[in-house]
Amino acid sequence: MPEKIKNYIAGEWIEAASGNTFESRNPADSREVIGLIPDSNAEDVDKAVAAARSAFPSWSQTPAPLRGEILFRAGELLVKRKVPLGELVCREMGKIMPESLGDVQEAIDMLYYMGGEGRRLSGETVPSELPNKDARSLRAPIGVFAQITPWNFPIAIPSWKLAPALVAGNTLVYKPAEESPVCATRLVEILVESGLPSGVLNLVHGFGESVGEPMVRHPDVDGVSFTGSNAVGEKLAAICGTQHKDYMMETGGKNAIIIMDDANLDLAVSGALWGGFGTTGQRCTASSRLIVQNGIYDRFLETFTRRAEKLKVGNGLEKGLETKIDIGPIISKEQHQKVLDYIEIGLNEGATLHLGGKPYCEGSCAYGTFIEPTIFTDVRPAMRIAQEEIFGPVVSVIRVSELEEAIALANDVPFGLSSAIYSQDVNTTAIAERDLDAGLIYINASTIGAEIQLPFGGTKRTGLGPREAGGRGGALDFYTQWKVIYRDFSGQLQKAQIDD
Ligand code: ADP
Repeated sequence: MPEKIKNYIAGEWIEAASGNTFESRNPADSREVIGLIPDSNAEDVDKAVAAARSAFPSWSQTPAPLRGEILFRAGELLVKRKVPLGELVCREMGKIMPESLGDVQEAIDMLYYMGGEGRRLSGETVPSELPNKDARSLRAPIGVFAQITPWNFPIAIPSWKLAPALVAGNTLVYKPAEESPVCATRLVEILVESGLPSGVLNLVHGFGESVGEPMVRHPDVDGVSFTGSNAVGEKLAAICGTQHKDYMMETGGKNAIIIMDDANLDLAVSGALWGGFGTTGQRCTASSRLIVQNGIYDRFLETFTRRAEKLKVGNGLEKGLETKIDIGPIISKEQHQKVLDYIEIGLNEGATLHLGGKPYCEGSCAYGTFIEPTIFTDVRPAMRIAQEEIFGPVVSVIRVSELEEAIALANDVPFGLSSAIYSQDVNTTAIAERDLDAGLIYINASTIGAEIQLPFGGTKRTGLGPREAGGRGGALDFYTQWKVIYRDFSGQLQKAQIDD
């Protein structure tokens, strides 16, 4: 029997007001239903926002180090449950076991990091220009945030949003992706078990239009954090704009790895395989374009193809094979069809299908949504497969002659999330660092692998609003507002800037 999942509102686990449910299924084997999920609507959202609003005064005044301690405890519980949670990530979202465990590890790192921020949330103290007066700034909580997450990092991305917002003293209404709701529920359970008071975090399951949008439009929500598709992010940002809400939208990527003639070939091939086919290409930082210099092009393509052919596609939990699988399923039938449509588009545009290109249905994979690792060559930069986010195991290889041309091509897309270059020449890589237009730049490493202690996000249509994660300019800048305090203890009227 599939598990019956509930919403968590005002400290209680409850069904959706409608009483309806939908299924979460294993993308590697659609015969397996993992959970029955509350199909919520605006009524549930109203209750959740009211709970978050009434919890705000007391949570925002709870000392930040105590808020941080709850996150530490949650991190410890995640450490204890890392393996079963990793298996759940693999079953519900499909990524292979090492990556599923990595998903949980990223949440552990984020909870510990943001837990520590409870004792650091620092502002500035500066000298006043007047005697017997002091001047300082502090980070104040903002209020109620709506948070909406995607399915591709079902534990990690929720932790990116929940942990900084909570340590900063805000209260939350959270909607996870409809494809990975059981994973999100486990994370919320852990936070509750760690001591989060009632109403501080409210979980409302359901679909974008029936739950996500009412959350964003709700007049008692102060800010919105969203990760997902470009179209939805831009639409939600527009709503926030008209309602004077803060927003942070993390959206698409079309990331490139540049491989120069002097690159370490094996290293570059390993990076291209990991970036192109890791997580089945379903990362916003996936390396879906490989821009390869003339002199190394043939050797690179030959080695890359030989190693891509050997990648094993399958169910990451299949007994006896779990450590050997490299590529899991695509998340859903719709997404599977969308990736196949892009392969068709590439062919129609005149690119050469060099490897793969078909659904993979061997053995038990017949019950899942798998696609062979796919490589296109003869790709012109303006083709849709080289411009649009595919979110599948599809890589375009593009030939160039010069560094400047390579950088111009890498930048010539609507997105600017992550770019990488392989070269042994320090001058070449320094020019790339300066001229690549992206939020994340990797030197001799793939486009994936961001660490949580620095800001995450990009330029152009990759996002709107501030960046996620840690470090200067990271998520705490979004989840707090600056308050400046001037205290005059002179007992006189003192006037700044006025000559007396
Ligand atoms: P993806 O293609 O990655 O599923 P989406 O943008 O469709 O990207 O979904 C990401 C998250 O946004 C999911 O939680 C989804 O339910 C939610 N979502 C989708 N449409 C809307 C919408 N109109 N308003 C609010 N949330 C939405």
